[in-house]
Amino acid sequence: MTANIFADRAGRLKGEAAFEILAKTKELEAQGKNIIHFEIGEPDFDTPKNIVEKGKEALNLGYTHYATTQGYLPLREAITKYVKKHKNIDTNPKEIVVTPGAKPAIFYTFLALVNPGDEVIYPDPGYPTYGNLIYFLGAVPVPIQIKEEKGFRLDIEELKSKITNKTKLIVINSPANPTGGVLTPDDIDEIANAIKGKGIYVLSDEIYDRIVYSGEVKSIASIPELKDWTIVVDGFSKAYAMTGWRLGYGIMNEELAEKMSKLMVNSNACVATFTQVAGVEALLGPQDEIDKMIEEFRRRRDLIVDGLNSIKGFKCLKPKGAFYVFPNITGTGKSSKELENYLLYEAGVSVLAGTGFGEVGEGYLRLSYANSIENIQIALERIDKAMKSI
Ligand code: PMP
Repeated sequence: MTANIFADRAGRLKGEAAFEILAKTKELEAQGKNIIHFEIGEPDFDTPKNIVEKGKEALNLGYTHYATTQGYLPLREAITKYVKKHKNIDTNPKEIVVTPGAKPAIFYTFLALVNPGDEVIYPDPGYPTYGNLIYFLGAVPVPIQIKEEKGFRLDIEELKSKITNKTKLIVINSPANPTGGVLTPDDIDEIANAIKGKGIYVLSDEIYDRIVYSGEVKSIASIPELKDWTIVVDGFSKAYAMTGWRLGYGIMNEELAEKMSKLMVNSNACVATFTQVAGVEALLGPQDEIDKMIEEFRRRRDLIVDGLNSIKGFKCLKPKGAFYVFPNITGTGKSSKELENYLLYEAGVSVLAGTGFGEVGEGYLRLSYANSIENIQIALERIDKAMKSI
């Protein structure tokens, strides 16, 4: 094929390891192999019944037409109530844009704010989309190393040292993918103090903020001086087990919300209307299913952390949030990618190399424990056996 047939930017956009390995795993399964999935960050629970019923009812009631680009008003109103209660953020429907999943809210934030040459500070290891978008847009990547010694919390001193007059955006993600690290309210206050009045935007990816096992979470947008400089990104995929519904949102100042709506109207037009009706039920309906899911995730976390720590060469911190563990595997003598392949082909356990989340992920694996206790037990036995036979 002609070398320059594609736009330059297309060549700069990378994919996401989780989806690549999932595709590889599916091929192996099609060949009859039994694989336990720890690669994809998706709750194995079904969407709670009350939400599914509302979605069906909405279809029957004819919510099958376009919705407003910015989002179905009752959903945006529900989001204002929800974020006041859970994040202590004062907002209004004009500051909210509903998107098909949290991912587009991240994508559009970058498109609306970041010019080539702008510096963007982001966590490494971190959710791959952040780094991918920085390269895609020709911005300057300024990674902050997220260290195991700090319990996978961002180092505020390092953050401060990386702020320059070219810093346009800082990305924070707490609880974090891939480490499960959680920023404390003091961390958030310190970050806020470091950037207040400097004209720097913060993208706060809060998609895991309902999945917290200990300690408190604080949204940086709850600090009044930071409110207009923060884009809160959240969604329904993780907390409500709604990955396939594609529903998320961003909260931002009104001017930015207008820009984001333009990006929405030129790409998606709007989010599926019946999905948004179901979203109202998710946010304002009974929340006891979520509490049950979190308790189940806690049991799984404890099981996987203890299990991994008893395997030769593995050292695993107990994360405070999300549903990932990020064990240190330097003791195995294998690189992250070698171990990812070895465990997939030799043990039938699909994990991700830490390097899929940034350069400093070498020496780590990411395992998503959104899988059943039985499967976690079997996987741990398989990993143990495979490591003993090296
Ligand atoms: N942010 C983070 C940190 C994530 O891990 C994910 C999903 N893996 C997302 C955003 C996107 O979620 P969704 O688009 O399904 O809402």
